[in-house]
Amino acid sequence: MTSTTNSIAIVGAGFSGAVIGRELAEAGYKIEIFEAREHIAGNCHTERDTETGVMVHKYGPHIFHTADQEVWDYINKYAEMMPYKNRVKAIYKGNVYSLPINLHTINQFFGKTLSPSEAKSWIESQADLSIENPKTFEEQALRFVGKDLYEAFFKGYTLKQWGLPPSELPASILKRLPVRFNYDDNYFNHPYQGMPKNGYTEIVAKILEHENITVHLNSLFNPDERKNYKHTFWSGPLDAFFNYEHGRLGYRTLDFERSTQDGDAQGNAVINYTEEKVPYTRITEHKHFAPWEEHKKTIIYHEFSRACEENDTPYYPIRLAQEVGILKKYEEAADRTENVTFVGRLGTYQYLDMDVTIRQALNTARAFKENETNN
Ligand code: UDP
Repeated sequence: MTSTTNSIAIVGAGFSGAVIGRELAEAGYKIEIFEAREHIAGNCHTERDTETGVMVHKYGPHIFHTADQEVWDYINKYAEMMPYKNRVKAIYKGNVYSLPINLHTINQFFGKTLSPSEAKSWIESQADLSIENPKTFEEQALRFVGKDLYEAFFKGYTLKQWGLPPSELPASILKRLPVRFNYDDNYFNHPYQGMPKNGYTEIVAKILEHENITVHLNSLFNPDERKNYKHTFWSGPLDAFFNYEHGRLGYRTLDFERSTQDGDAQGNAVINYTEEKVPYTRITEHKHFAPWEEHKKTIIYHEFSRACEENDTPYYPIRLAQEVGILKKYEEAADRTENVTFVGRLGTYQYLDMDVTIRQALNTARAFKENETNN
């Protein structure tokens, strides 16, 4: 049944919902956004910690980086982006190393002073070149960095992060990380990188600031209500829309242990603990995400990863064989559901970075408008 109303429901006020809402509001649609939480911006939500004054990333660190010019221009329209380069350290067996794996890491780890070309040959001598077409995380690591670096930096961390041995995880997870044969320790390869001066929640608030947009916080949207709208964009969990009729899609969730102290706790925003026996994956110190600010006190979070239970916040979609089987059923159900588009990390069950989320949201909104014009 197609409703005659011109209003559109959007479920979720994260980047997906906000960007789609804004595009369609500008095109003249009336947008009603339903957000289950008490705040906008989804897992990108930032707020000032009252005790320390530090802007904290409540759901873990978010660093904006992209190669997509239009997305970079888009974010800069709504935020003052400050120069920021993510530099991550790793602690393994009492030593501090530089990540992503670069010439410093290689030379320090092996106690050498190799040049870039020597390091390449050295790593090739370590690598298992018999693996022609790496499929798993472990094969990818053994093929490109060899056993010693794999065991020091990836094996334990990944086991903690995903709750599974890397031999059971896809190579795609590791492909997110570069390996460099120079001293460049920028965590990302993208040409654009930055941090919003006033946090991510302010960006989302600005995107949502339009006379045609109404946001309802603390509001669960029952999928049956969609009949009151011309169209619904659902950025909530895909399985929740269908009342989990084919089972639950697996996620990892994170727990954060907060603590504060005077001064500087670790001297860097992110330090990974790559040994399996250390129970947390990393410690994040959020004032270092805003190096242009000054704070006497500091706040750190020990980050722990575990399986996501019913009432937990979902973070990372697991997407292994079992989940892919369930996902297929939901995707088929989604295709059969008229006047609803599933979007974003939870709606499409994908491990999406912020820039990709914005790109997909822009594309979705445009496709919708085009389709409307043609009908
Ligand atoms: N990873 C690892 N050791 C590290 C950092 C990352 O083994 O010190 C692996 C881990 O499996 C992780 C993946 O590489 O899930 C991708 O890392 P990224 O830093 O992109 O993870 P995110 O910041 O999205 O959690």
